[in-house]
Amino acid sequence: MQYLFDVWDRISHRIKSANHILLLSDYDGTLTPIVDRPELATLPQETRKLLRTLAKNRRYTVGIVSGRALPDLKSNVGLEGIIYAGNHGLEIEGLGSTFLEPIAEEMRPFLQIMKQALLATFKGIKGVFVEDKGLTISVHYRSVKDDEERYVMDAFSRVTDPLHLTGRVKITQGKKVYEIRPPVDWDKGKAIAWLIAKCKVVRGSGGELPIYLGDDLTDEDGFKVIERNNGISIFIGEEDVQSVARYFLKSPEEVTDFLKML
Ligand SMILES: [Mg+2]
Repeated sequence: MQYLFDVWDRISHRIKSANHILLLSDYDGTLTPIVDRPELATLPQETRKLLRTLAKNRRYTVGIVSGRALPDLKSNVGLEGIIYAGNHGLEIEGLGSTFLEPIAEEMRPFLQIMKQALLATFKGIKGVFVEDKGLTISVHYRSVKDDEERYVMDAFSRVTDPLHLTGRVKITQGKKVYEIRPPVDWDKGKAIAWLIAKCKVVRGSGGELPIYLGDDLTDEDGFKVIERNNGISIFIGEEDVQSVARYFLKSPEEVTDFLKML
């Protein structure tokens, strides 16, 4: 990966010469600092203002692609006129359309049963937080003591293995979080590909430049799609992390600087 600001001349040239820019970003850990509980992650006022300014610019289409549930994401970001993709793109609003993955929608009642099982399992374990995201469930364990992490992993496996191993749910892992998802072949990458195609139709005259910023494992699918579409993929974090992104920035603060430069 190259440090984005080291090659800024080249990047800014590509941005200036593009007909249209599809600027997509992850939310937690990319636009906001990582915090212990997801409800405490707030978007810095300056970042919100910058996103608003870019969204109003005719050369830009702005969108947030997050693991959060759509209503939660929208209320946290609080901007109009941008794309929101929630639950890793299982639910999308923007560019004049909405998308809801049909199998995921069908699975809703089933996930409620799983949520009850997880709540019962983790009752009394300090630091575990089971989050109901409608189409998916997250189990956060960032605040669990180090020597109890093993126990949390084992308990999680006990509940989910029978369903996971028979293909009835998908399990993914992020930063100190497990996620239970419906068994559909859909991820941030597929959602971003959908948005790139949609943007071409709605805004397009050819020569769109897609950009994606993200900090976590689930963002890798997004980076792959961006690379395939000759876009700019930007990982947020340390340089020595393995990522398919071509560029990196060190922190959400540097993402704010990048937005300013745009
Ligand atoms: Mg993130």
